[in-house]
Amino acid sequence: VTTYWCERALLDGAVAARVSIEVVEGRISAITPRSDAVPGATRLPGLAVPGLANAHSHAFHRALRGRTQQGPGSFWTWRELMYGVAARLDPDRYHRLARAVFAEMVSAGFTVVGEFHYLHHQPDGTPYDDPNAMSEALLAAATDAGIRITLLDTLYLHGGLGSNGYEPVSGPQVRYRDRDVDAWTDRVSAIPTSAGARIGAALHSVRAVDPTSARMVAAWAADRDAVLHAHLSEQPDENEACLAAHGITPTQLLADAGALNEPTTVVHATHLTGDDIGELGAARVTACICPTTERDLADGIGPTAELVAHGVRLCIGTDSHAVIDPFEEARAIELDERLRSGQRGTHPAADLLDAATLHGHRSLGWDDAGVLEVGARADLVAVRLDSVRTAGSTDDVAVAALVFAATSADVTDVVIDGRHLVADGRHSTIDVAAELTAAIAEVVSP
Ligand SMILES: [Zn+2]
Repeated sequence: VTTYWCERALLDGAVAARVSIEVVEGRISAITPRSDAVPGATRLPGLAVPGLANAHSHAFHRALRGRTQQGPGSFWTWRELMYGVAARLDPDRYHRLARAVFAEMVSAGFTVVGEFHYLHHQPDGTPYDDPNAMSEALLAAATDAGIRITLLDTLYLHGGLGSNGYEPVSGPQVRYRDRDVDAWTDRVSAIPTSAGARIGAALHSVRAVDPTSARMVAAWAADRDAVLHAHLSEQPDENEACLAAHGITPTQLLADAGALNEPTTVVHATHLTGDDIGELGAARVTACICPTTERDLADGIGPTAELVAHGVRLCIGTDSHAVIDPFEEARAIELDERLRSGQRGTHPAADLLDAATLHGHRSLGWDDAGVLEVGARADLVAVRLDSVRTAGSTDDVAVAALVFAATSADVTDVVIDGRHLVADGRHSTIDVAAELTAAIAEVVSP
């Protein structure tokens, strides 16, 4: 038995003081509030909350931080810069980069990542000798960093959707494309997994996947109880192309393809019609909101109030990693909604924390994590309540202070599956800043 003694912990939505949490084989075996400090226990300062879930990541985009945030342009000009980094990656470089990025996530309090992975093949589009070399590099990187991963292996068949239908892939996109759905399923079915890893399916978008192929992937995921993720309506252009080619919205296309079900997560869900919102709610999907990326790319603000009112659960993702900070993503859902609607208080702090913990873990297929209760995976994230940002918060406002004012720099300790991976704000095995520096230098142009 390993015992963690928390100054405070979030239990059943309330802040409890002096909480002893016992862990056996990576799971919580006992929780005792108002407990004296146990000799030999590891002390966690501040407020311990459940593990945070990063439900949408493209690890290599981290190399773009600071390089794409300035100058004019749009999502589409950003995409050209992103393609440049993608072109320089191989399995070894991607392993080094992703290991540092995943360690940055762990240091920020994330205990699981959904890696939306589409960079599959060699620069000329032919598969590596091991066709899953890139997927395996990402899985190894997650193991190194100590974070659980759901590898959302992504189908990407077409280069775009124009007025004449689907366009062939070109340039760096040839690395993303599997020959067809059968080639994708053969490859994905052969990915080896381990205890901390799961495989999910992803449809890149209605720009890259046609309705017939989307239907086949949805059936594959349902057969295997795998989660299914898809980018949805991030940009108005995507909606217009879909309407012009198919006469329906991207949401309706996914619904018709059988791709909208309870284990489905739609990513962004920014530009939706009223009917789309009703469809997503009826299907009980989860929507992954990625506010720091959506603002960086000038995507717009999605209708999170209406989505929740219709029964859609929200989770968060750091997506392009403009920043990696769970608190910034969570509060932005509410703060962006205030700017959009002129109303305050749509998403309470407790709901935002649920999005960042419980709903994110469920979106990635980890139903036994994201909550502090006996039997759950022993993920603990300790957040300082005495930093310059959080000082002065009493127990009754601690959750709101954490959601609305804390940053990833306030995370002191992270425990994943019972392993104490971050202490005093430092990752136990990886020098995160040094490895980021070295790995990014390998993939950006001088
Ligand atoms: Zn994305």
